[in-house]
Amino acid sequence: MTEIYDFHCHSTASDGTFTPQDLVLRAHEKGVTTLSLTDHDTVSGLEKAKQQAHDLGMQFINGIELSANWQKHCLHIVGLGIDPTYEPLVKITDYLQTLRTERAEKMSAKLEKKQIFGAFDAVKLAAGEGMITRTHFADFLVSQHHVDTQQEAFDRYLAQGKPAFVATIWPELHEVINWITGAGGIAVIAHPLRYKLSANWMNRLLVDFKESGGQGLEVITSRINQDEIRLVANYAKKYDLVGSVGSDFHNDTNPYVELGRIAELPATVTPVWNLL
Ligand code: AMP
Ligand code: MN
Ligand code: MN
Ligand code: MN
Repeated sequence: MTEIYDFHCHSTASDGTFTPQDLVLRAHEKGVTTLSLTDHDTVSGLEKAKQQAHDLGMQFINGIELSANWQKHCLHIVGLGIDPTYEPLVKITDYLQTLRTERAEKMSAKLEKKQIFGAFDAVKLAAGEGMITRTHFADFLVSQHHVDTQQEAFDRYLAQGKPAFVATIWPELHEVINWITGAGGIAVIAHPLRYKLSANWMNRLLVDFKESGGQGLEVITSRINQDEIRLVANYAKKYDLVGSVGSDFHNDTNPYVELGRIAELPATVTPVWNLL
């Protein structure tokens, strides 16, 4: 049987549209054999997802995608194989939920200055018990016809430098890595090309990441081309980092982003699953 790994996706515990159970069901239907759920700054979907995976005879890896500050950049660090009951991790996710709620209130106030009302109540309702993210704001702006698409919502309101953007002090990269490794997990830099770092800054990041105990790079993500794969694979080799693979699936609106529908990890890169 061919193994299909997907170590990066989202459920309703953060900004995905599928419940943890339905997400695992969909992954199973798409042929995924080992799945990790990696919601933004929360582990709250893991138990239900794990149970569903167990019922379907699928392998499941506990995961998270933590927001981290490094040199004024907001990076996303995926933690794989974490113990979700590790006390410092539980504490920080509680703190991040408060931080995200406060940020949402500030974003909503900024939207009011643009004559857009009711954002906070709407995103709070949409997120439910889960983490409030900018994706919820994007959906709100689309639903109220202020924009036509999520992308336009980011471009006009939510991206850095746009009217509703609120600078947030995320935990430092080295702290984030410590929580992940302390919880028995492997820290992986998610979608490393999305930060638009120059080669010089990328090298600096990887030196710092390694020194802090980071172990992996997400070599394969959705919509990545062969040149980009080669580039990231070379960084992985240069810094002796394992390679991870993940679709970053959130919802079923984009046919190019699907659970398990990702390129193969180059044979020259050590797969992260060797460590799990
Ligand atoms: P947050 O962590 O609350 O800042 O939200 C970040 C999330 O917003 C990311 O994980 C993506 O799912 C989504 N996102 C960020 N930029 C864009 C964009 N340009 N278009 C669509 N979604 C985006
Ligand atoms: Mn997201
Ligand atoms: Mn991300
Ligand atoms: Mn993600």
